[in-house]
Amino acid sequence: MTEQSATTKTDKAIITYCIEHAKTQQSKCAACNKTIPHKSLRVAEIVRRSKKVKKDAAKHTWYHFKCFKVPELLTRVPIEQFRGYPALNEKEKARVQRVIQSGIGSSWADLMEKTKPVKTEEELEADKEEQAKKDKKKKEDEDSMKMDMTEILTGTQQKSTAKSKNKTATAGKKEKKATLKPKTDAKSKVTKKKAEVALQTKQVVLPKKDLLELQKIAKEFSAFK
Ligand SMILES: [Zn+2]
Repeated sequence: MTEQSATTKTDKAIITYCIEHAKTQQSKCAACNKTIPHKSLRVAEIVRRSKKVKKDAAKHTWYHFKCFKVPELLTRVPIEQFRGYPALNEKEKARVQRVIQSGIGSSWADLMEKTKPVKTEEELEADKEEQAKKDKKKKEDEDSMKMDMTEILTGTQQKSTAKSKNKTATAGKKEKKATLKPKTDAKSKVTKKKAEVALQTKQVVLPKKDLLELQKIAKEFSAFK
């Protein structure tokens, strides 16, 4: 490999990059200003005034690997010319490749940030499934409520007193759900309103006139199913 191709000349300065596990805990990250822990992966931008200056004597600007933003140079030279890269383990090499492939200005920290929405999407998917289950349950509840209503409105609730008592406990909840149901037209709105009244007063013995009216409504209600 030629070193020439891995360098950028600005005036006479030569810039190269190296990556390694921190040999000490004395370097600070130039991006976030925090200490780079001993043995953690760090990247240096090495600036030499000229080729005469030895690399080890050159100015090193250190970055946490995650904070380092891909410079243009690393996107156009073979990755093996990223000094220290060949000595990394396979997992680290893969990370370095990934961040460089993401283009100039990319950083591992950014990549990690960008992958968050993927997790969120998975979560959203899980939420959707959860919601679908809830909707199914809700529909079942509504269907069961419609049946209850029919029972109530046709005066058959006395046949299932135990069941009716049980339903009373959840009546408030179901009633709330009933109000959330989509309104198709004015007629169903009225029907529903009356049905709600029926629900609230199901333990009350209704006057015959009302009972007949409700029976009529019950038929209409059944027709809506
Ligand atoms: Zn940093």
